[in-house]
Amino acid sequence: MPTAAFTTLGCKVNQYETQRILDDFEERGFTITEIDSPADVYVINTCSVTQSAERKSRHTVRRLARQNPQAVVVMTGCYGEMAKIKGETVEEATLIVPNHEKMRTLEHLLQAFPRFVRELADAPQVRPPRPAGRTRATIKIEDGCNVFCSFCSIPYTRRVMYSRPAAEALAEAQRLAERGYREIVITGVLVGAYGAETGSGGLDLGGLLRRLARVPGIERVRLSSIEPTQVTESLLDAFAEEPKLCNHLHIPLQSGDSGVLRRMNRPYDQAFYLRLCERAYRRLPDLAITSDIMVGFPGEDRAAFENTLKVAREVGFARVHLFRYSPRPGTPAASFTDAVPDEEKEARSQELAAVCRETQQRYIARFLGRVMPVLVEEKEREGGLLAGYTENYIRVLFTGGSHLVGTVAPIELQEPTANGARGEALNSYQPEADMIPLTLVTGKAMRQ
Ligand code: SF4
Repeated sequence: MPTAAFTTLGCKVNQYETQRILDDFEERGFTITEIDSPADVYVINTCSVTQSAERKSRHTVRRLARQNPQAVVVMTGCYGEMAKIKGETVEEATLIVPNHEKMRTLEHLLQAFPRFVRELADAPQVRPPRPAGRTRATIKIEDGCNVFCSFCSIPYTRRVMYSRPAAEALAEAQRLAERGYREIVITGVLVGAYGAETGSGGLDLGGLLRRLARVPGIERVRLSSIEPTQVTESLLDAFAEEPKLCNHLHIPLQSGDSGVLRRMNRPYDQAFYLRLCERAYRRLPDLAITSDIMVGFPGEDRAAFENTLKVAREVGFARVHLFRYSPRPGTPAASFTDAVPDEEKEARSQELAAVCRETQQRYIARFLGRVMPVLVEEKEREGGLLAGYTENYIRVLFTGGSHLVGTVAPIELQEPTANGARGEALNSYQPEADMIPLTLVTGKAMRQ
C-alpha cells in the first residue's frame, strides 16, 4: 500500500484541516506514517502568519523533497497563497494545492498521479480505531475572516465567510466520541462569527456549544479562540450553565494600548477589553483567560507598551502566546513607516514574557491544594510521568499507570512547575471503564 506522511505549520485551523486530509488518505487505503519516515507522499500544510512561519514552511518542503527525492511532495495552506502574492516559487514541491481546495487534496493527488489509484485498488476502506493515547480532537466550524486587522494577511487568503451546518458538526462530534475521543476543541478562523447568515442552519456559537456538550461520550468541549467583541452575554451564559464547556477562554488582546489597537484596526480599546475580562471573571470565577499579544507593532512606543504590560497584569493571563510583529506583504501595516527596531522588539518581548510568566504562576497557585479533574493524555517522554490538562488549561504531571490515559482522573495539584503543576492521583482512584463521566469530578461541581 502507498504510504503518506503529514505535517502542519501554524494555527489550530491548519492542524484540524491536516487531520481531515489525513483521514481522507487513511480511509482511501494509504498507510499513514511519521513525517520523518520514508513515505510515497508528504503533505505539508503551510502557514504565512509571520515571516518565520513562511521560512519554516519553505524549509520543510525543501527538506522533505531533498531527503526523499522519489516521493511526491504536496504543498498546501496559507504560505502557498502568500507565495503567489509575493511571486515566490518553491520548486521542490511536486504538487501545489490552492488553499481553498485543500480539503480536496486527495482528489488532486489522485488526478495528478493516477498510479496511486491503481496501487490503492485493493486497499481496505475502513476507518481505523483511535490511536492509543489520543484523547483530544479538533472540529472546525467556521472559515474566513472579514475583520481585516491591519497586520494580518488571513482575510486575503481566507476570504469567504462560511459556517458549517450545525448538524454536520454534531455528527462529526458523535463520530469522534465513538472513536474514543473525550475532548473536542472547537476552532475556526473567526469562530465568534459562527451563525445563521453564513450557513450554521440557525444556531449561534453558544447554541452550538451547548449542543456539542450533550453529545454522548464527549466529556469536554473547549473553544480554541474568540475575538473580544464576540464574547457575548449569551456565550458567557452557555459557559456558566453547561458544565462540559471548559472554563477557558482564549481572547486575543494583541495590544493593551488603545492607540495601537486603532492602528491595528482592532474594533475595541483597552477599557473594553478590561471590562470584558471583569465581566467574564464575575460569571466564571475560576476562568482561565489566555491570549495572543503582539509586541513591536509600528508606532508602539514605551508608553504604549506599558499599557500592554498593565493589561497583562490586571487580567492575570493564565497563558500568553507572544509574537514579535513582522510585516505581511499586501497588508496596510506593511506600509507603516514607524517601525520598532528589532532589538527593542526583542527586549520588550522578554519583558512581557517575564510578566506573563508571573501572571501564569499566580493563576496556577490559586489551584494548588485543590483536586481537579485531569484529562490524561500521555506519558511524558522524559520522566515517565503522566500528563494532562485540567478543564481550565493547567498542564498537570503526576505519577500513575498507563491505564489512566484517556480517562478523566481527579488529581490533587501540589506544586508549580515551569508551565503547570505537579500533582498526585487520589490513592483510591481506579477507573472501572475507559470512560469516566466528567460530571462526577468536574471542577464546577467541586466549587459548589
Ligand atoms: S480577526 Fe484579525 S488577526 Fe484574526 S484572522 Fe481576522 S484579520 Fe486576522
